[in-house]
Amino acid sequence: TRKPIMVGNWKMNVDHIEATGLVEKLHYTLVDKDWDPKKSECVLCVPFTDIRTVRTLIDGDRLQFGLGAQNVSEHDNGAFTGEISASMLSKLGVQYVIIGHSERRQFFGETDELVNAKAFKVLGAGMTPIVCVGEGLDIRKAGNHVEYTLDQVRRALQGLSSEQVAGLVIAYEPVWAIGTGEVATPADAQEVCGAIRKEVAALYDEATAESVRIQYGGSVKSGNVVQIMDQPDIDGCLVGGASLQPEEFAAIVCFY
Ligand code: 13P
Repeated sequence: TRKPIMVGNWKMNVDHIEATGLVEKLHYTLVDKDWDPKKSECVLCVPFTDIRTVRTLIDGDRLQFGLGAQNVSEHDNGAFTGEISASMLSKLGVQYVIIGHSERRQFFGETDELVNAKAFKVLGAGMTPIVCVGEGLDIRKAGNHVEYTLDQVRRALQGLSSEQVAGLVIAYEPVWAIGTGEVATPADAQEVCGAIRKEVAALYDEATAESVRIQYGGSVKSGNVVQIMDQPDIDGCLVGGASLQPEEFAAIVCFY
């Protein structure tokens, strides 16, 4: 059985001083709610500049949070001004890296091939990629959302072994539902997440498909998380806006 995984994507919000306050508030809110980390995993994907601070808080106070980054270079090292490598992240105790977020695809021109290259780097450094896929509004309106998203999945996973894919997190985030308040219906989310799992079974095998964790992302809130998590092929959520609000995010983490 797959352990539910709730990931907060802070995006370009929260400096390292504010991070201390946010992590502290989240921790105490989760204590109040009697969060059981055996029932759900909670990961914070923070800006690069917050990584050391959040790692120190987690270690020093034995907080039960996983730590993630939001991007990584496809290169190992060298003359790539402004970039951050996978080994730099893993040496800071980063465990997860979001790759191919729709905002990176949209604003920074990331392609499926680049996402695939980044997946190899993240895995090579011993971390877990959170591979983001999902269609825009035009594709959804044309009814091609399943085929489009499966194509992204195939390209992102190209060349990965079944062992590698079994440990992955794949996040289905329909672009039209991100930051818009427009949440996909649980049935819409399940349609695509179920299709992704079937595709993994076809590309690899049943055991790999049963093991890979698939998230939904896009306007997830405390008020809709239960219905979303009720879907058989949804194993967690990738949460943007609501992850900046400790009460909201704690309720999402304690959805069970
Ligand atoms: P919102 O939860 O703000 O819609 O953002 C979703 C997202 O992009 C998470 O990666």
